[in-house]
Amino acid sequence: MDKYKTRNTISKTSFWSTFWDTTKDGKKKLSIRAKRWMVVVAVHLLFFLSFAVDVQVLEGTLMGSRFLGFHLIDVFATLEVYLATYHMPINMVIGTVSIVLVYLIIGGRTYCSWICPYGLFSEIGEKFHDILVSKKIIKEREFDHRVKYIFWAIFLALAFTSGYLVFEVINVVGILSRFIAYGWSVALAWVLAVFLVEVFFARRAWCKYLCPIGATYGILGWVSATRIEWNDNCDHCMVCHDVCFENHVLEITKKKYDEQRKEKGIKKEVILNGDCTLCGRCIDVCHADALSYTFRLKSLV
Ligand code: SF4
Ligand code: SF4
Repeated sequence: MDKYKTRNTISKTSFWSTFWDTTKDGKKKLSIRAKRWMVVVAVHLLFFLSFAVDVQVLEGTLMGSRFLGFHLIDVFATLEVYLATYHMPINMVIGTVSIVLVYLIIGGRTYCSWICPYGLFSEIGEKFHDILVSKKIIKEREFDHRVKYIFWAIFLALAFTSGYLVFEVINVVGILSRFIAYGWSVALAWVLAVFLVEVFFARRAWCKYLCPIGATYGILGWVSATRIEWNDNCDHCMVCHDVCFENHVLEITKKKYDEQRKEKGIKKEVILNGDCTLCGRCIDVCHADALSYTFRLKSLV
């Protein structure tokens, strides 16, 4: 995709062309989306190989795994287990603390865009959804993204009152992760149902409104070190808003803040909102190179 030539490339571009970027001097390179997809595939290939041919690099599933022997446990799964059983084995504490430290460094919802296997399906569903909206076959529906915190509390309350990990029954991330590692199950029909809801009803509905795993990493995201940085090359074209399914986090790109930024001499700002998944789609499409990754602790490194 050549973002420097025309903004039409965003609405008229094919899905596959978003895996390439054209640089200012006309060279083709892999887009951040392409690199992200490679990371997701590589992570899950390691899960697959651990069970299929006993390659012991990354064993288990996304809910609980061992990377080179180190325990890693999903934070929301740990909360559920503790509330359901009032018990937290030491391996679970170590695995959860390790994961928290990793995501405090690389960005909370980096999990959603760089690790979660459902994220890739959801991006494909998003493209179908956008096509249906542009052809006026369905209409765009927006809900309050904060509803995910209500679901987050409900699933934890259900674990506490029932003693079961109720969310895990409908957890598309866990279902897909187990499918990749261990093989088919009828639960995949539920993943397909969620996918179809996203295509025909609401864009990225699972990730934006429901997933308590993403909501938990989003809480870490508010204080994590890796962020998206905006600079005043921005001409407020709003193309980044089009591609971002959590575009409330891009509020700082709006023109209405220019006046007060000029008064204060501000030329750069970081996105602080933990809902940003650090997917890099906004960087891929910004023709003004006004967005980039930044690491807030770089002075310490
Ligand atoms: S950051 Fe880039 S894509 Fe977003 S509004 Fe500014 S110029 Fe447009
Ligand atoms: S702001 Fe950019 S990096 Fe963050 S979720 Fe939106 S498109 Fe992805």
